[in-house]
Amino acid sequence: MEKQMDFKPEQAGRILAEIEGLTLLYDAPMSQRTQFRAGGPADLLVMPRTLESLYSVKERCLEEGWPLTVLGRASNVLVSDRGIRGITLLLSPSLSFLERKGETLIAGAGVPLYRIAALAARHSLTGFEFASGIPGSAGGAVFMNAGAFDGNMAGVVTRTLYIGEDGRRGELLGDAHDFGYRHSYYSDHPGALIAQVDIRLQEDDPLAIYDRMADVARRRYLSQPLASHSAGSAFRRPPGYFAGKLISDAGMKGYRRGQAGVSAKHAGFIVNHGGASASDILQIFLDVRQAVFDRDQVSLHPEVRLVGDWDVRPFDPED
Ligand SMILES: Cc1cc2nc3c(=O)[nH]c(=O)nc-3n(C[C@H](O)[C@H](O)[C@H](O)COP(=O)(O)OP(=O)(O)OC[C@H]3O[C@@H](n4cnc5c(N)ncnc54)[C@H](O)[C@@H]3O)c2cc1C
Repeated sequence: MEKQMDFKPEQAGRILAEIEGLTLLYDAPMSQRTQFRAGGPADLLVMPRTLESLYSVKERCLEEGWPLTVLGRASNVLVSDRGIRGITLLLSPSLSFLERKGETLIAGAGVPLYRIAALAARHSLTGFEFASGIPGSAGGAVFMNAGAFDGNMAGVVTRTLYIGEDGRRGELLGDAHDFGYRHSYYSDHPGALIAQVDIRLQEDDPLAIYDRMADVARRRYLSQPLASHSAGSAFRRPPGYFAGKLISDAGMKGYRRGQAGVSAKHAGFIVNHGGASASDILQIFLDVRQAVFDRDQVSLHPEVRLVGDWDVRPFDPED
């Protein structure tokens, strides 16, 4: 803990500058990088372009005792207004190798899901249409077991390469990912870093694949506030209920406090109308949760993860 307090970005940057394949940014405003468009600066934002450079950063962090935060496309996080101390590894879009081997696509953890879906469609491979509109990265999607409509990462991921909390490199195969609803082995081991994701698909008629992708895009466009800044569904689905319906029933659809609020189009989405701080957004989570509890005595648990230097953490994703 003492070492974390002593973190000196310039000193860390000088050490990391010896590693090839990295882009380093000091005091980088996360409001420009998160899909919520909120959040303070990362002390040192590190973007690795190769697996080797990624592994080397993790090793240096362990040697030096630097705090490390990993992000993909920052589409499921709320970063504190005070920002993120230590090193923030931002993998998307830098770690973006993507190749096809037979019916398997091999993706760097930072590859955006829409790129994987596009490559699959070009190669007449089906099974990834569900993810074409999810604005995450391969690594973030595995971590969360992202899913939509009738698909999820659990159905297509056969192997991941990772570097563990202790710096050891490893791989997970099939069931070892322990996928569940918005859950994976990695969400239970947040110190582990996903480096590569292998996705197994099947051959199909390309026109049928493009049709399904268009259908997914249309359904999202009609039901979700895609023009607003958000992190997707704010809350997990409580067993036996739908979060959006509970929120509507509690009269919170379209609720607003300053520039943050609940979408008027989809009550499950908390949105930044422009210029809201992360604290403003967090307050909406708390207001919604309270309103739903007051009406239905159901506790909502956030799907969005709090990242960075928060004074208080009124909820954690697994609470
Ligand atoms: C408009 C909108 C629509 C959305 N729709 C959906 C949807 O339909 N279905 C759905 O499931 N989600 C949806 N989401 C949420 C989000 O896109 C997914 O959860 C996505 O998988 C997150 O990926 P990411 O790369 O952005 O992860 P981030 O937000 O960057 O990170 C999320 C978590 O994963 C961890 N993480 C990220 N990358 C790695 C890595 N390489 N190694 C280890 N840990 C890592 C982070 O530390 C963090 O805890 C939506 C979001 C938005 C904004």
